[in-house]
Amino acid sequence: MRYCARCLYPENAKPYIIFDDAGVCSGCRVAEAYELVDWDARGKALAKLLAEYKEKARAGGAHYDCLIPVSGGKDSHFQVHLVKNVYGLNPLLVTYNHLFNAPLGVRNLENLFVKMNCDLLRFSSNLETVRKISRYMLKKCGDLTWHYHAGILSLPIQVAAKFRIPLVIWAENNFSNLVGTFNPDDMVEFSRKHRKDFGLRGIEADELINEQSGLTHQDIAPFLYPPDEEIEAVGVRGIHLSNFVRWNEPEQALAMHKMYDFQPAKAGRDRTFNRYAKLDDLHANGAHDYLKYLKFGYGRATDDASTLIRLGLLTREEGIALVARYDHIRPKDLDVWLHFVGMSEDEFVASVDAQRDPSIWDRDADGRWRAVDSVVNHASDTGIEEARPPLRRNGGFEFPEGHYDINDAGALLEFYKGYKYL
Ligand SMILES: [Zn+2]
Repeated sequence: MRYCARCLYPENAKPYIIFDDAGVCSGCRVAEAYELVDWDARGKALAKLLAEYKEKARAGGAHYDCLIPVSGGKDSHFQVHLVKNVYGLNPLLVTYNHLFNAPLGVRNLENLFVKMNCDLLRFSSNLETVRKISRYMLKKCGDLTWHYHAGILSLPIQVAAKFRIPLVIWAENNFSNLVGTFNPDDMVEFSRKHRKDFGLRGIEADELINEQSGLTHQDIAPFLYPPDEEIEAVGVRGIHLSNFVRWNEPEQALAMHKMYDFQPAKAGRDRTFNRYAKLDDLHANGAHDYLKYLKFGYGRATDDASTLIRLGLLTREEGIALVARYDHIRPKDLDVWLHFVGMSEDEFVASVDAQRDPSIWDRDADGRWRAVDSVVNHASDTGIEEARPPLRRNGGFEFPEGHYDINDAGALLEFYKGYKYL
């Protein structure tokens, strides 16, 4: 396997990645391009755009100036901070309750609701539908949180159309930024197509209706994109704040902690050193991400370390040490998911057998899978020194100690047995 000479991504990174002649990946090149953006000009463009929508909404007698899809995490806090408290709009917050809530996520969502003083619409899918989708999509494409992505990328658009709110404000275009699908000059906006390609793995909800899944027309309402005529009648448009504000995850998370008491996780997460991202979904950094490792041989520590390497906050060598420590770890929250859907661990692991990348995984005579490559084997490939970005950390980056152990499996299982899904 070929690995980027700058960050830690393999050539099989999803959705797709390309390498240039210097051995540097498209994600790194796009991150470099973002460093050259005139952020002052972009900030002014954002101020103008928000002022126009606010004026239009109020002139037309609308109750809300815009809609912000939220999970309650660091990005949600930052989006609402900027839109409401800096630019003075009245947003409607919309959250899709995927049911895989970690206690820390519930706490942070409540914190957002209380501290920001906004109206919040929370839609919860029913238990049986989530069970069916999660089981079925694990087997179909190795994704047990498909409903989460489909819900948060569809439901807010349905609400925008029904409530007649034309402006939807997203955070980062993160599905494509990691691997560098769009340049900053593209000013890419949210669309039905990007949502399907990057968020829904190319699968629309009605394709899930069949005998094997047990899903019916009645189960898929939150995952449908409104018809074109409804979108056009309201003029629904979705912008990404990362096109207007220089995106720096750790810096923003720390600021949201200090300003609004957004809480990070305790040290000791199973599969990443990152304590401030993906805290709301129990499985996002756990079983869901473990599947990525079982299929492609890399996991969240690769994503998180690569982001910090591009920001100049981590060296490639430090990143490799983190990958060696985290990417292969079996997460404890897997027990919770197996309990929820009623599946054995053998069935879970076997369900991705056919999706394992043969250039990473080899099966021995006894049927055991073995990873034959990793970025750990590529610490001194050619081109690394030439591709090295400047370090920008001033005396290191310290995040405060968190109070919540997101991976305490015993507590999580108790939490779930009590059916505390809201
Ligand atoms: Zn790279």
